[in-house]
Amino acid sequence: MVYPGGWDEDRLVDEGAVDEDLRCPICQAVCRDAVMCQSEHVFCATCIHTHLQRDETCPMGRHELRADDLVPSRLMRKFVDKLQVTCENKQNGCASMVSIETIDAHERQCGYRIVPCPHQGCEEEKLRKDFEAHTDCCRFAMTRCPRCDLELPRGEYDQHLAEIGCFQVVMRLLASLTADHTVLKEDHTVLKEEALAASKEAFAAKEAFAALKEELAALKEEIAAERRWNAPQGAVLLVQGAGEDDINGYYKANGEYNDRPQYRKASGFRRVDSHPDNT
Ligand SMILES: [Zn+2]
Ligand SMILES: [Zn+2]
Ligand SMILES: [Zn+2]
Ligand SMILES: [Zn+2]
Ligand SMILES: [Zn+2]
Repeated sequence: MVYPGGWDEDRLVDEGAVDEDLRCPICQAVCRDAVMCQSEHVFCATCIHTHLQRDETCPMGRHELRADDLVPSRLMRKFVDKLQVTCENKQNGCASMVSIETIDAHERQCGYRIVPCPHQGCEEEKLRKDFEAHTDCCRFAMTRCPRCDLELPRGEYDQHLAEIGCFQVVMRLLASLTADHTVLKEDHTVLKEEALAASKEAFAAKEAFAALKEELAALKEEIAAERRWNAPQGAVLLVQGAGEDDINGYYKANGEYNDRPQYRKASGFRRVDSHPDNT
């Protein structure tokens, strides 16, 4: 039974120069991660562990053997480590040939290894060496909004700025609304003042009207009083008596004399010293 535990022949740079003692008795390939039994029979770690799962005896000595008995074979590893192998990414273009001792380290950072994009959500897979160019434009790479400092995937940045996702955009909007509100508030204050002034004016007008009304009433009364003392239009007043203000008098209207004992001095009256009928 052959287990694929050892180094692939195709990867050995100088396959012909390989010492036969370095080969695993199970897979016949150069021992990989060499381990040995208590009788110093050496195998690839994978090969012997797979074998022991079915049969707990050493394939070389036919003695009992459990996985716990196995220990690394330092000597075997030391020889194997010197061999040169090609990189596992040779088919992707890696031309490196390095010792088995350093192949793991090389492959871990080999630029020809296909790796997935490290940005969450991106399904791009590329040779590691080509990723730098992709990372610069990957939509899933995180970027920081210079305005509001929010971290977000590059692909969402335009939308972030266009819509009200950006804190700064929101702040600007808020500022303009606040300004509008201030203007409205000022308008409101002006309107309130105008209304107050108007009502004050109205009050003053009401007072003025009341005063006018009083004046009018007084005037009316005066006119009535005047009327009382004045003779009808066209009457000829004939006054008897010498009083300056209150005099006895008569007036003649429509051919008749009318008796009016208390006449006040008034314009337009003709003053006579005696009753015309007595003269
Ligand atoms: Zn093997
Ligand atoms: Zn053995
Ligand atoms: Zn490589
Ligand atoms: Zn990506
Ligand atoms: Zn922002």
